[in-house]
Amino acid sequence: RKRMVSGVQPTGSIHLGNYLGAIKNWIELQNTYDTLFFIVDLHAITLPYETQELSKATRDTAAIYLACGVDTSKASVFVQSHVRAHVELMWLLSSATPIGWLNRMIQFKEKSRKAGDENVGVALLTYPVLMASDILLYQSDFVPVGEDQKQHLELTRELAERVNYLYGGRKWKKLGGKGGTIFKVPEPLIPPAGARVMSLTDGLSKMSKSSPSDQSRINLLDSKDVIANKIKRCKTDSFTGLEFDNPDRPECNNLLSIYQLVSGKTKEEVAKECQDMNWGSFKPLITDALIDHLHPIQCLLLLCLSILCMKVLQEQQK
Ligand code: ATP
Ligand code: MG
Repeated sequence: RKRMVSGVQPTGSIHLGNYLGAIKNWIELQNTYDTLFFIVDLHAITLPYETQELSKATRDTAAIYLACGVDTSKASVFVQSHVRAHVELMWLLSSATPIGWLNRMIQFKEKSRKAGDENVGVALLTYPVLMASDILLYQSDFVPVGEDQKQHLELTRELAERVNYLYGGRKWKKLGGKGGTIFKVPEPLIPPAGARVMSLTDGLSKMSKSSPSDQSRINLLDSKDVIANKIKRCKTDSFTGLEFDNPDRPECNNLLSIYQLVSGKTKEEVAKECQDMNWGSFKPLITDALIDHLHPIQCLLLLCLSILCMKVLQEQQK
């Protein structure tokens, strides 16, 4: 079977972008692929963090994976820092990574600008090398990611090719092959819809855990009232009717796409249903669809958290 790996950082709250762009798609994929889903706690320390919060967020993230439907009888679920080979391979890969490749990463530029000089550690720059090691370590065929990770995945591919060329080629040729054997070059799996869920307060920025404004995102664990309030206050526009794909209406496109994904309807069905609506009639519709979709996950989450806490206690008693 083809292999696939993916992960989410245990920082802040898991939001609708992480869910629709990544976790929700894993549930289908785990039936077809050999899947490894990890909690990338080593990525979470690239910006300032609190130790205790990180441990709690790591457990919460594992519980969210399970509550969303990740099945441990089909997929391997683990914490990145528990497998030391991720960091060991990262060191080896960094010796083959030209620094210019890292300097041009958009996420580094954005996050370092926001964090301010004092908080920009070397790890924020070298983060994509660790991500490459997460993927290449397992000889993964595919990596399901949101659009924001496309550039990092491209770097992973280039790095795999570079290592294959630098260290694999000669040996392989002696054996009569075409060159390039050390690492498999992985392909991205970008979902057709949900790959870039945008902020509720600015349709041109992606919904993000690290945004300081909680109003900008729907967290998977937001209560009904909080969801209703965030939708009530989210940014809209003053055009008539609602439509997909109008570049002058990024917020409208984003809200319709979210509605499409959580209601399970097709894009055409949503376009037709909403074309003559105004925001006053659409907002209760999307609010209900969000609440209905997230409710079962939230119920299961409590159960998953209790099970994980029990397991941790059992381990400690051993
Ligand atoms: P941060 O802002 O701290 O980087 P994040 O919200 O980007 O946090 P990550 O843990 O970095 O979350 O990303 C986990 C997964 O979620 C990745 O596969 C990423 O591509 C996907 N993802 C993150 N944000 C979005 C989004 N707005 N829309 C779709 N997918 C997203
Ligand atoms: Mg991110």
